[in-house]
Amino acid sequence: MSHPTDSTCIFCKIVAGQIPCFKLLEDVDTIAFMDINPVNPGHALSVAKGHWPTVDVIPPDVLAAVARTAQKVAKAVISELEPNGVNLLQANGAGAGQSVPHLHVHIMPRRPNDGVALNWEYKPGDRAEIEAIYKKLKVALSS
Ligand code: 5GP
Ligand code: ZN
Repeated sequence: MSHPTDSTCIFCKIVAGQIPCFKLLEDVDTIAFMDINPVNPGHALSVAKGHWPTVDVIPPDVLAAVARTAQKVAKAVISELEPNGVNLLQANGAGAGQSVPHLHVHIMPRRPNDGVALNWEYKPGDRAEIEAIYKKLKVALSS
């Protein structure tokens, strides 16, 4: 798989070795390194080597490789840091909180009362609305 690059992208610069990082792992399609602004100690990133901004444009095999690398890092975080839990988070677009438009998965160790705001309240949805959206997506997925 050839890797598209964007010379203005911070993660492309890390992949190219132009900016240093604490590199955990590397394979043909992915790299994993420590996040520079950790939400908790041990926060790391599994990153595609190629510059694909979001989940809808990355080749599926590269997305799978990013997931495999994220799992390896998560296993090390779990065994070595013994967090209370781990969130894997992958943001797409500014509206989802993505600040670096180069696909990556966060490996986020969690600690009791760490104040990280990822949990949302369970509120029952409107059944008709759920069904209407389901039908729309089902058509898109069958075509
Ligand atoms: P996003 O907001 O796109 O989901 O996550 C981007 C992540 O990249 C943030 O958690 C941010 O701390 C991290 N980050 C941004 N610039 C750098 C950098 O130069 N080096 C490292 N290691 N992480 C970075
Ligand atoms: Zn990039």
